[in-house]
Order: sequence, then structure tokens, then C-alpha cells
Amino acid sequence: HGDFNQKIDYVFKVVLIGDSAVGKSQLLARFAKNQFSLDSKATIGVEFQTRTLVIDQKTIKAQIWDTAGQERYRAVTSAYYRGAVGAMLVYDITKRPTFDHVARWLEELRGHADKNIVIMLVGNKSDLGHLRNVTSEDAKEFSERENLYFMETSALESTNVETAFNTVLKEIYDTVS
Ligand code: GDP
Ligand code: MG
Repeated sequence: HGDFNQKIDYVFKVVLIGDSAVGKSQLLARFAKNQFSLDSKATIGVEFQTRTLVIDQKTIKAQIWDTAGQERYRAVTSAYYRGAVGAMLVYDITKRPTFDHVARWLEELRGHADKNIVIMLVGNKSDLGHLRNVTSEDAKEFSERENLYFMETSALESTNVETAFNTVLKEIYDTVS
């Protein structure tokens, strides 16, 4: 049972980036453990969590890295990006500034990561539609211009979280296999 004796074909490092409080840690908790907390404290300690999944009969270990509360400008170090083959660039659909900062995050990501990195733009908190401040159209347009995948998610309601991570992991798999 568990990881014991399990043959891992691939390990994919995926990093979570984006402003503080957009829901990165909750997206990770949802994907890795199917958990969610409304009063999540600023991330401390744990650097990454893993989830093992099967794609095309290959066992993939997804190693998802969380920023540990270092989202201030340039506080995320190059070690964080090292070896990453995927990235989830998260903003909060109810907080316009978190979307306005996406370009800056993208610039930093492209400056540090492998040029073939697979990037998903994630508009989180889609359950808060009545507070929306970023239209899906704006985000879609940006993602098309920048060649990113795009999805709106809710870590709270578990909407599209699985799909967002799986899309990135499948695309990574397709490029390495
Ligand atoms: P991080 O700083 O980007 O890691 O953000 P957190 O994951 O710590 O989340 C910040 C706050 O937003 C916490 O109070 C979460 O419970 C809340 N949150 C995260 N995801 C969602 C979501 O999908 N919907 C709603 N309504 N709240 C969320
Ligand atoms: Mg966090």
C-alpha cells in the first residue's frame, strides 16, 4: 500500500506562484489531500506536497511547491523555480490587483524557469462570483496573448482544481514522453 515499492516513472516539479492570499495553499491542499480550510494561516514550513497519479499507464509523482509566504516582490528565490516543469500562476477573481500583478509574476517565472515550462493561469475563488472584479474574458485574452493555459477554479467548492492540475501534468507528460 502507499508509496512502498511503487515504481515511479516520472517526478514532475510544479510551482505555485501569485500574490499572497489568492488561495495557492488551499489549491494545493485540495489537490494533494482533498482538504480545504477557510482560516488558513500564511504558509509556513512545508515546502511541497506530492500526489501520485497515473497517465498513460505511467506512474507520475507530482511534486507541488508552495511559496511558504514569500510572495513579496523578489522574495521567491531561484531555488524555488529550479527544475520546475510546470507552474500554476494564481490570482483571485475578486481582487483586481492580484490579476494586474500576473504579468510581473510571469516575467519573474520566465526569467528563472526552463523555457519549456508549462504554465496555467488560474483565476481562483470562482465561488465568489458576486464579488468578481476580473472578467473571464480579460484573463482569457491575456492567457492567449501569453500562450498560457487558463482556468477558473474554486478550492473551496473543489471546482476545476483537479482539471487544472491534471491539464498541466498531462501537457508536461506529453512533452517529456
Ligand atoms: P495563499 O496565500 O495564496 O496561499 O492563500 P491561502 O490558500 O492561504 O488562502 C487565502 C484565503 O483565501 C484563506 O482564507 C482561504 O480559506 C481563502 N480561499 C482560498 N481558496 C478559496 C476559494 O476557492 N474560495 C474562497 N471563497 N476562499 C478561498
Ligand atoms: Mg500560502
